[in-house]
Amino acid sequence: MEQKQFQAESKRMLDLMIHSIYTHKEIFLRELISNASDAIDKLYFRSLTDDGVGTKRDEFCIELRPDKEARTLTVTDNGIGMTAQELEQNLGVIAHSGSRAFKSENDLGENADIIGQFGVGFYSAFMAAKRVTVRTRAYGSDTAYIWQSEGVEGYTIDTCDKETVGTEITLELLDDTDDEHYSDFLEEYRLRQLVKKYSDYIRFPIRMEVTRQRKVEGTEDQYEPYTETETLNSMVPLWKKNKNELTDDEYNQFYHDKFYDYTDPLLHLHNRSEGTVTYNSLLYIPAKAPFDFYTKDYEKGLQLYANGVMIMEKCADLLPDHFSFVRGLVDSEDLSLNISREMLQHDRQLRLIAKSLEKSIKNELAKLLKTDRAKYEEFWKAFGVQLKYGVYEGFGANKELLQDLLLFHSSGCENDEGFTTLAEYVSRMREDQKCIYYAAGESVTRCRSLPAAELVRDKGYEVLYLTDRVDEFAVKMLGQYAEKELKNVSAGDLGLESEEDKTALEEKNAAAKELFDEMQKTLEGKVKTVRLSGRLKSHAVCLSSEGQLSLDMERVLNQAPGGEKVQAERVLELNPEHPVFGTLQRLLTEDRDKLADYTKLLYQQALLIEGLPVEDPVALSRMICDLMV
Ligand code: ADP
Repeated sequence: MEQKQFQAESKRMLDLMIHSIYTHKEIFLRELISNASDAIDKLYFRSLTDDGVGTKRDEFCIELRPDKEARTLTVTDNGIGMTAQELEQNLGVIAHSGSRAFKSENDLGENADIIGQFGVGFYSAFMAAKRVTVRTRAYGSDTAYIWQSEGVEGYTIDTCDKETVGTEITLELLDDTDDEHYSDFLEEYRLRQLVKKYSDYIRFPIRMEVTRQRKVEGTEDQYEPYTETETLNSMVPLWKKNKNELTDDEYNQFYHDKFYDYTDPLLHLHNRSEGTVTYNSLLYIPAKAPFDFYTKDYEKGLQLYANGVMIMEKCADLLPDHFSFVRGLVDSEDLSLNISREMLQHDRQLRLIAKSLEKSIKNELAKLLKTDRAKYEEFWKAFGVQLKYGVYEGFGANKELLQDLLLFHSSGCENDEGFTTLAEYVSRMREDQKCIYYAAGESVTRCRSLPAAELVRDKGYEVLYLTDRVDEFAVKMLGQYAEKELKNVSAGDLGLESEEDKTALEEKNAAAKELFDEMQKTLEGKVKTVRLSGRLKSHAVCLSSEGQLSLDMERVLNQAPGGEKVQAERVLELNPEHPVFGTLQRLLTEDRDKLADYTKLLYQQALLIEGLPVEDPVALSRMICDLMV
């Protein structure tokens, strides 16, 4: 019999398969089952209009037959089959998209991954088999054909006997090696597991004859084996079932099985969309952040199915970064099974799905916030930081989407653990209030005790307490909310004083110019200016900042490993009503050395109040002791 050559491109693909370093050789089964299912689909649709098909609709099935002695695994279907010409065309040439990715990059490492992600159909059989035999009879044909190949060398086609329409593919498995135990593919448990993992939702039964034990009748402890046909797949995917038929328990169980998280999820979101793209989605919000969530090892993504067949374990393009904590899957009828990753990225359908998922996740969270505050706060504690990063990232591109999902601690809350939304803050604003005020620091206690926060509170305004590192960056990116500017109590003009107060303060500042110049000289390089401030009530001194960088942002940025150290433009502010101010004025004329010491002391105190490190704790301590003796 004549040995035929594969087309050049197919040959390269085959070569790649055979020498694949990719570890997930198991996916060949998914590919064969999926082809079988497609073939049945074709005949099934015929049967809807054509009585001559012969096979009854409930007889359509796929069979797996492992044979340990022969070391073969056979996958059989009673689908449409192939004619000699189709065999030649379909199995002699690679004509699908998977090969495009292969052509564009010839690096094996890269490609090994592509194989794993998308499969390349039939040829993947050669990842596990040394010889593949296809026996097939097309619907409407009297002749059956046998196709055989041992890989790159080529293939043969001949006629053969086959009673029924359909295809039977037999893999002679490769010999076991230290790394790869191919004979596992002959084990019932393994096959059952693989079908569950990849093909559970194939809509035709996948059957296998399994051996079980039963008690021999009339005996107490004697068992005998018997065989029984088992259907390995559930056929209807959970996400295609009707919402009303499913219980929370079922959703949760599915989540545990699928995503290996044994804590119940906080909520699930089950949707069917039939707009411009048709898809089912089942999404979960976990109750806790995975241990690696806030590291760069965490991989976001949803499982992607094309019509019930999983084509990708983690499709990152389906989730925006700010919702990277969402787990789940999408199943769309509009995607092709053999789409490659590179194409997926540009896929219009996929982008539409991603957009609509983003919207529904947002809406679901907004709903939760409204209807179950306690649960939302639980969510917030786990993933709030991610949303705040979301506001900050991309130059605020997503701030509109996310701003109403944000929570902050606040002086308006009953206790330190309480949270407020920006909308709630605004609803409590006093009529004359122009800004949304916030204080930033390591903890609520610290924020609350900031002198400037005290003053703003005393005027009757609420102050948000920003305690997360990312908070102030996010808030700066927001800029305003409901047309109210967000304002740091420790920076710039708070807009709290009347025009008269302001003028009075300016006059006092001008009068003390000599003093402040002198103090500034002492603190050269540390502060930009020294001045009197309306920001202080009981404290003698505080630090504020000018410009974009606040003191707390400076603290956060300088805590990050590596990177250049930054410094905010610091202003040392004094309380004109505090007796210390009088002392300083007196020292200007009486004792300039002492004035310098006191200036340094005041500066160090201001640093302490702000939660910034004092520059020379030993000198500070000595100066305090000198004062005491
Ligand atoms: P794809 O399924 O992406 O087209 P494959 O390499 O898996 O690529 O298969 C190539 C073609 O061979 C299929 O499109 C189909 O026409 C045919 N084929 C494969 N398996 C079967 C089968 N079990 N029954 C009928 N036709 C099949």
